[in-house]
Amino acid sequence: MKIDTDKKIVLIGLDGVPYNMIEEFSQDGTMPNMAKLISDGVFRKSESTIPEISSVAWSSTITGKNPGEHGIFGFTDLHKNSYQLKFPNFNDLKEEPFWQQWDCESVIINVPSTYPSHEINGVHISGFVSIDINKSVSPSSLIPTLMDMDYRLDVDSSKAHESMDLFLEDLDKTLSARIDCYRYLWANRSWQFFMLVFTGTDRLMHFLYEAYEDKNHKYHDKFLEHFRKIDSVIGEISERISDKDTLLLMSDHGFERLDYDVYLNRLLIDENLLSFTAGANPSLENISNDTIAFVMDPGRVYINYSDKYPRGYVDRGDKDKIISKLKTLFSKLKISNKNVIRDIYTKDEIFFGKYIDDAPDLTLVANEGFNLKAMMKTPGLYSKGIFTGKHTQDTAFLLAKGISSDAIGEKPKVSDVRSILESTIK
Ligand SMILES: [Zn+2]
Repeated sequence: MKIDTDKKIVLIGLDGVPYNMIEEFSQDGTMPNMAKLISDGVFRKSESTIPEISSVAWSSTITGKNPGEHGIFGFTDLHKNSYQLKFPNFNDLKEEPFWQQWDCESVIINVPSTYPSHEINGVHISGFVSIDINKSVSPSSLIPTLMDMDYRLDVDSSKAHESMDLFLEDLDKTLSARIDCYRYLWANRSWQFFMLVFTGTDRLMHFLYEAYEDKNHKYHDKFLEHFRKIDSVIGEISERISDKDTLLLMSDHGFERLDYDVYLNRLLIDENLLSFTAGANPSLENISNDTIAFVMDPGRVYINYSDKYPRGYVDRGDKDKIISKLKTLFSKLKISNKNVIRDIYTKDEIFFGKYIDDAPDLTLVANEGFNLKAMMKTPGLYSKGIFTGKHTQDTAFLLAKGISSDAIGEKPKVSDVRSILESTIK
């Protein structure tokens, strides 16, 4: 696929930012550049993947594929025929990102789940979870320049546990360096595709969603400041491109207030569907050989099939019976008189592709306020920790300039971004 030599395509990601927040900030003056783009362009609510987490959502965004095709179902997975945890990275992505198939120079900055960085025609700086700077930058000759900018791969979230002021300071420094990096590469490379993702938004909302909702909150202004700063960069970028160019802004999932973390494995333990070998720590590697099912983050339920796992118990012939039992259990779960689970999907309902065998047997989407977790050692069935915000599946946003509303449709999904961008190339 070839882009006209005089055309540029720019994709800006705002990790986790919900549609309603963009709408509100564009109306109340916090994001005036966003407001201008909304009035000139196409602004839609969009849908994340299921589950609605960044590793899966960005993998679907950059490939245009279903998790069953690209093979990324979460931040964690299991090694084949084992209960041993692995952390899939960019090398585990089974489909090529679209920029590899576009015959042009690209600059890719901070896309989650693209670590370690790959050599491409252009520049690739990987995003969350990037561990080592030496494996995060391609070409590596750029590393000294990034170091001079005080470039940071990610916000140091551990600071929030120490002091929110330290966290906010780190968040702002990370954003400033990201902006310096974009300006430098924008000016110094002859790119045609530019992709930049801001991930501090997601971290900020996990810790301080309550500061967004409460106008009297100590950190309310700091919260808005982060969005103002991003808005001014968006204004700068939209000034820098011409009418022939394409600009797409998007989030990979939405956000809302978190009331309770809910521990789904705890529920399975209480119902005698999950247990551990005597005396062993409650962990996946120690599950006993009469376990029926277990959960991985955030709400991925796996049946302990005898032909799939070393201490498997369930016969394939009992699949329908077990699925229906689990569906009943999860759909009945209530906390403070509210149903915890909104939707339950079997693998055939939402996944397709070559890697569907690795997909969870059931995937759960929570109702408002409930954050699903797979932790085994828990204070009970639910609790409230340091986080005040959580992801949502169906309130992400998409905002486009230079793309027809027909190409975008009424209810775009993150996996449509590829075809939406490609509709402007042909
Ligand atoms: Zn997040």
